[in-house]
Amino acid sequence: MRIRFVGCGDAFASGGRFNTCIHVADESGAFLLDCGATALVGMQRIGIDTNAIGAILLTHFHADHFGGMPFFLLHAQLIARRTQPLLIAGPLGLPDWLARAMALAFPGERTLPFPLTLHEMQIGKTETIAGRRVSAFHVAHDDRAGPCLAYRIESGGKVLCYSGDTEWTDALVEAARAADLFICECYTFDKPRKKHMALSVLSRHLPRIGARRVILTHLSDDMLAHLGEVDLDCASDGMAVEI
Ligand SMILES: [Zn+2]
Ligand SMILES: [Zn+2]
Repeated sequence: MRIRFVGCGDAFASGGRFNTCIHVADESGAFLLDCGATALVGMQRIGIDTNAIGAILLTHFHADHFGGMPFFLLHAQLIARRTQPLLIAGPLGLPDWLARAMALAFPGERTLPFPLTLHEMQIGKTETIAGRRVSAFHVAHDDRAGPCLAYRIESGGKVLCYSGDTEWTDALVEAARAADLFICECYTFDKPRKKHMALSVLSRHLPRIGARRVILTHLSDDMLAHLGEVDLDCASDGMAVEI
């Protein structure tokens, strides 16, 4: 799997970073993990072929993870002239939230020139999504718009886990256990807070998880100010990793 951080920022553009969007290429093609508001900007900047993206896995419906969907779809229709099928998977409520986002961003009837499938993930189940084994885990973030998810993805004998946004929850132990790469949101350096991860908390639990590699993402100004004291890898926009 080749992983590219299109955007690794939070909702507040801390450090001038783009919103969350992670591009993954594997033997089945390519998919996105989250599609934050700036996802299309980030992908254009580093030259990602959006028509080669066969699936988008959304962790939750906050705009820094989901707000790029209207731009992606409009671009697919009008500029990329996509004909390939697209699968969008996400939490329960995905069809309604996507319709609302489209109506807000680009109102009007729209006929997409490609087959679009929306799939609501079942928590605790492992399903085949666009050729990969994908398990969804319920994490502890903000369920007002639907259950927030972490994903464990198995492809080509490798395991990738992405936490989505969450404070510490034991669901992450199962989601990321012995993963080849665990991409974990890490919002604050020391002080635990609701809905997001603190490095001080995550560090205590990482031995239970046993991931081969950990990359921190979704860093706030507080984390960015402490980068020199962090001994785990931290994502940056455009960063590429292979597992
Ligand atoms: Zn976020
Ligand atoms: Zn969020």
